[in-house]
Amino acid sequence: MDCLFCRIIAGEIPSKKAYEDDDILAFHDIAPQTPVHILVIPKVHIPSVDGITPDNAAIVAKIFAAIPKIAASAGLTNGYRVITNCGEDACQSVKHLHFHIMGGRKLPENMG
Ligand code: AMP
Repeated sequence: MDCLFCRIIAGEIPSKKAYEDDDILAFHDIAPQTPVHILVIPKVHIPSVDGITPDNAAIVAKIFAAIPKIAASAGLTNGYRVITNCGEDACQSVKHLHFHIMGGRKLPENMG
């Protein structure tokens, strides 16, 4: 298994968990860029947004249904940003679909 996030799901690499169920894992980013920076991933390996299909899209809906609860649990009562990087131009560094939940301070308006 050469996917970092699959190894985190398997427990081979430790993570600071924020939420877990049968299909989803959320954990704190190892290099937070905001006071709260959590990654939400599907347990099934999907490389990126480009790998979402009608057959596996239900997990994305499940992730987005969980995100408000994860954000609230992390104390993000005044808003937050959800980001996913897809591919080279977006500087995606881990090739396992993940959604960044970022907040805990006022974020810049410019996103790119
Ligand atoms: P991206 O650049 O969108 O692919 O985001 C990958 C994120 O994974 C970065 O924000 C990294 O800081 C984070 N990351 C890398 N390794 C780990 C790890 N072992 N535990 C938690 N977060 C990690």
